Amino acid sequence: MEHPENDKQYTGLTVNSGVAQPPVVNPYLNKRPRRKPLPAPSELVEGILKGDITALSRAVTLVESLAPDHYSIAQEVIEKCLPYSGNSRRVGITGVPGAGKSTSIDVFGLHVLRNGGKLAVLAIDPSSERTKGSILGDKTRMEKLAVHPDAFIRPSPSAGSLGGVARKTRETIVLCEAAGYDNIFVETVGVGQSETAVHSMVDFFLLIQIAGAGDELQGIKRGIMEMADGIVINKADGDNIGPAQLAQAQYRSALHLFPPTASGWKPEVLTYSGYFELGIAEVWDMIDRYFDFVKSNGYFETKRREQARWWMYESIDEQLRKHFYDNPQIRMLLEQNEAEVLANRRSSFAAAAQVLKTYFGE
Ligand code: GDP
Repeated sequence: MEHPENDKQYTGLTVNSGVAQPPVVNPYLNKRPRRKPLPAPSELVEGILKGDITALSRAVTLVESLAPDHYSIAQEVIEKCLPYSGNSRRVGITGVPGAGKSTSIDVFGLHVLRNGGKLAVLAIDPSSERTKGSILGDKTRMEKLAVHPDAFIRPSPSAGSLGGVARKTRETIVLCEAAGYDNIFVETVGVGQSETAVHSMVDFFLLIQIAGAGDELQGIKRGIMEMADGIVINKADGDNIGPAQLAQAQYRSALHLFPPTASGWKPEVLTYSGYFELGIAEVWDMIDRYFDFVKSNGYFETKRREQARWWMYESIDEQLRKHFYDNPQIRMLLEQNEAEVLANRRSSFAAAAQVLKTYFGE
């Protein structure tokens, strides 16, 4: 019997025979393209130049994608947008978590937009992974800007090598500028090496600090202070005004010990409160003065040219590394050689030489 449960001994229980299932529930399913067709580069460029946010977002997604066919479309779009880029003020903003970056970017952003124009807020956070909720990826952190029609907020490209994440942000700047965003903020967490990458893509580098966090350097390395064109002490409100002013004095005297900057600009130290919106105009006046200064002495152009060169070599380095480490044969050899080195059977240099020899096909 097909269904033993239908035997007389099982009272009150019957099993109906099933209905044959068609092999595919929806016969048209397989005929549908699996992915959305990729947009034509010219179509994206046209949309971007018109300032269309959907086209811009799609292009940025392609820039961030790891798929090779996406990469080649993205490169074509960037190439075509390049002549329309460059006309913006690029400001890097860094500070340790909790310093008040998102609160400040929200008010700085609104301040800038009051004079018209458009603002793109991008981020570099190599530790982030979108699915796990990036620290710099949460749109609601900038509540007012998130709903502003002239603001475009894009979280950090998801985790990868710092060079890769930073390059994607650099390329996104080109797309945003071509779409008419004349103010670009690039945010990063002031704890790692990402500052160097941000520094190499912005005109002005703003370091947000807070007073009274014990050692005033707050895990910010001296190198980051040296890169800053302006240091601003946030949370100068209520009982914190005194400590903020003290920190301001300390930073000012610390900066005196630094060598003169390449731009000739003397980095300034100001206090403000992002939350209570105090001193915002003063911070922005400083940034305006900086732009006037470097545009009149030619440093603005010099720095942008230097940055373009830096990115060319950075990009070559990144591609070379990727090509090397993605090679299956090299991966296997690396694994074997690493084991030998760890077991002290082979020197690090001999191991490296052997792997490279194989790579170069010698
Ligand atoms: P982020 O991690 O650097 O982006 O910092 P947030 O902007 O998220 O701010 C961290 C905390 O500091 C939040 O609780 C803010 O409300 C608070 N905060 C930010 N700016 C100020 C300020 O100007 N004054 C005071 N008192 N608190 C602030």
